[in-house]
Amino acid sequence: MSEWEGSDPLVIVRGEGCWLIDSDGNRYLDGVGSIWTNVHGHAVPEINQAIKEQLDRIEHSTLLGLTNDKAAILAKQLVDIAPEGITKVFYSDNGSTAVEIGLKMAFQYWQHLGKPGKTRFISFRNAYHGDTIGAVSVGGIDLFHAVFNPLLFKAIHAPSPYCYRCELCPEKNHNHCQKECLTELERLIATNADELAGLVIEPLVQGAGGMIVQPPGFLQRVRELCDKYDILMIADEVAVGFGRSGKMFACQQEGITPDIMALSKGITGGYLPLAATMTTQQVYDAFLGEYRELKTFFHGHTFTGNPVCCTAALASLELFNKKQILAALPPKIDYLAERLGHIITHDHVGDVRQCGLIAGIELVKNKTTREPYIWEERIGVQVCQEAQKHGLFLRPLGNVIVIFPPLVISLDELKLLMDGIEASIQTICS
Ligand code: PMP
Repeated sequence: MSEWEGSDPLVIVRGEGCWLIDSDGNRYLDGVGSIWTNVHGHAVPEINQAIKEQLDRIEHSTLLGLTNDKAAILAKQLVDIAPEGITKVFYSDNGSTAVEIGLKMAFQYWQHLGKPGKTRFISFRNAYHGDTIGAVSVGGIDLFHAVFNPLLFKAIHAPSPYCYRCELCPEKNHNHCQKECLTELERLIATNADELAGLVIEPLVQGAGGMIVQPPGFLQRVRELCDKYDILMIADEVAVGFGRSGKMFACQQEGITPDIMALSKGITGGYLPLAATMTTQQVYDAFLGEYRELKTFFHGHTFTGNPVCCTAALASLELFNKKQILAALPPKIDYLAERLGHIITHDHVGDVRQCGLIAGIELVKNKTTREPYIWEERIGVQVCQEAQKHGLFLRPLGNVIVIFPPLVISLDELKLLMDGIEASIQTICS
């Protein structure tokens, strides 16, 4: 599916740092990290070299009944950087599957613990967790999901903490909004606790829903509710993981440990398809014991733990260390905040939302009434197309302009990005 219908897509033939180069030789600053994946930019010499060397050793061997050195080393390193208490790793190939595995793990966990009634999930409206059937079932964006309704299992959807358009709170005040959302969440959990296996959440930011940033403390309260009502917390860090929030994982911003954590996108630095679903010893233990055969986790993939993908991931993690990627973020995050603080003064910018080096700029037809542009106006697409004239590659989410650049973007490049976005909004929204 593409918002760009009716216009020919750019044909990208090369990448260089934060830049994409098309078949006509035009250069575009990659403002969305090639769909929220590329952490270190493109054609990164260290990752390229590691992949080439690995290809000459072994390209693939199954993880079913075997393992490979790179998968084993990576698992240890993922545990080292994960929130305290997350100690087990299950590999797969993409973000949707990482979430799907989290759902299956949570389901099986309660079966093994002798609570067969706990089979349902609660998630949030505006959530996006991927395109497989389980992930769609817990997703909450009608535009993507409604067409599949007859195929889906019935998840419970709590209100999204989308303060700018809060469905519960007329004041649209962050503190009030958070309180209302959490009260309703607790009511839904309490009513269904006996049936709930888990709660699924994109920690800190609902990405595809429009870069909706949760109020501070929200995640901690969600963790407390999961503990209080005995349900597993599944954190979908597919988009926000690997440094985007300013810390390695978004859960670490609020000092919480989920029971299950789904990772993909940035895990290989955005290079190759790989995903991991990580969990705690407690969940893992439910799959062991006297009847081990029956307690095995029923999920296996052909390319699980592929050594070339794991090598890319190891090279990416090494770069995080070597280049001190996280330590270099604060000035960029501050600069982004400063520019957003100016962009919000535009007549057709209703809201700006930021978490680390992730941001969303919500365009509105009427700033006073918050009236949105209608879908047919394709205002986000228009702004992003205009931005191409300024040498930027951007991809909108409806009326929201997304900023999700490689973490290695320089301050000069970030300035170019923000200048181009501001000029494009000025041209299109007047
Ligand atoms: N979860 C989140 C939060 C995502 O943003 C995405 C992808 N945008 C997914 C899951 C699905 O990942 P994939 O496209 O790799 O299946």
